[in-house]
Amino acid sequence: MPRIIVVDDDEIVGNLTLDLISGMGMEAELIQDSTQALGLIKAKMPELVVMDILMPGIDGLTLCHRIKSDPATQHVKVVMVSGKAFAEEIDRAKQYGASLLIKKPYDVMTFGQQIKALMGGPMPKYDDVKPILREFTPPAQPALTAGVWGCRSLSPHTTAMNSHYGFQTSCLSVETGGNQLIFDAGTGIIDLGIHLAAKTDLKEVWLFLTHFHQDHVQGLAFLPCLRQEGFTVNISGADDPDKPLEQLVKESFDRYPSTVRDPFVADIQLYTLQEESYEMLPGVNLTSFYANHPSTTLGFMLETQGRKLVYCPDSELYGEFATALQDYDEKLGVVVEGADLLIHNGRFTQTDYPSRMNNGHTSFVTSLEFAARHNVKRLLLWHHDDQYSDGTLDKIGDQAVEMTFKMGYSVECVMARAGMKFSV
Ligand SMILES: [Zn+2]
Repeated sequence: MPRIIVVDDDEIVGNLTLDLISGMGMEAELIQDSTQALGLIKAKMPELVVMDILMPGIDGLTLCHRIKSDPATQHVKVVMVSGKAFAEEIDRAKQYGASLLIKKPYDVMTFGQQIKALMGGPMPKYDDVKPILREFTPPAQPALTAGVWGCRSLSPHTTAMNSHYGFQTSCLSVETGGNQLIFDAGTGIIDLGIHLAAKTDLKEVWLFLTHFHQDHVQGLAFLPCLRQEGFTVNISGADDPDKPLEQLVKESFDRYPSTVRDPFVADIQLYTLQEESYEMLPGVNLTSFYANHPSTTLGFMLETQGRKLVYCPDSELYGEFATALQDYDEKLGVVVEGADLLIHNGRFTQTDYPSRMNNGHTSFVTSLEFAARHNVKRLLLWHHDDQYSDGTLDKIGDQAVEMTFKMGYSVECVMARAGMKFSV
């Protein structure tokens, strides 16, 4: 008798599902006709049923409801798989007793592991399940591409140290419709600048600075296109209460002696931002908002072609520690609702966070809960603590995936690392 029954009207997808399950050493059988499924499930009594939501005949949610409300079959575990994974379907799947809803197209690397983890018998410990998500599932029609060039806190590292996540400080590149946007100018911008210098047709960039803490501007003076004749560098950021943007940018430039370097010859344009929303380029809307972090700090929301990206690297969510007077989580929640990508601070482990509270950074657990609550599709954890080893950061990534899985969150959570590229 098969331990698992797959109900899917699509023969190709059904057989792929069978292959992934048998690849994990488990026996499975495919039923294509959903009207026959309930009878066959009763006759064969599998341990687990994997089924699609959209099927002719009886749809998956109805079938799940029947399995779970029949005393004879209610012990059978149900996993729903669907391309139609709206909040409503997820809620109903949970309400009807499904153990998990896996979005289609599912990740062939991890699908079998997710099923295995749910099976009785030798239940693999979550720690034994290989790190599941290291990359985002690419969208069918990307509206923009993004690159991570630095995602650390200020790092007192030596050249002997090496890290899979990198020690470069904040810098994100975003390309959309041939336009080059850059968020923050930590040391990561040096590598990005070298990469951009090779693009001979590029003559303009838009740089958005969240704030002027050193780890967000320390690479600014080293951006090669500042020394390129005919190049335009648009820099946007907020004034500080006692210093205008112009002075803040100048101080960032002057922090490094220019005597040993060529002078800046690019056309540098400054744009002072407050909380506002505007069309920065045709079809590209930018919203700036204040983030909960020491000094005047902005977060940015970019919207184009129906996609929404939010970059908010330095931000302290209060999560369970919030009091009635701390409404930041609520405010940011409105901004990030339904975002295709949220890049947010997840600097600390849940254990380390309490001793570092009120410093403008968040525990990854709180960031993940927050993203899930606000229907964020992808969360990129950012601003890794400079004291954390790769082992600790790997563990945070694994725990985030484990938590997503256990809680039935639909958000994909990935740890940022310098050099990673993805589309949104
Ligand atoms: Zn900061």
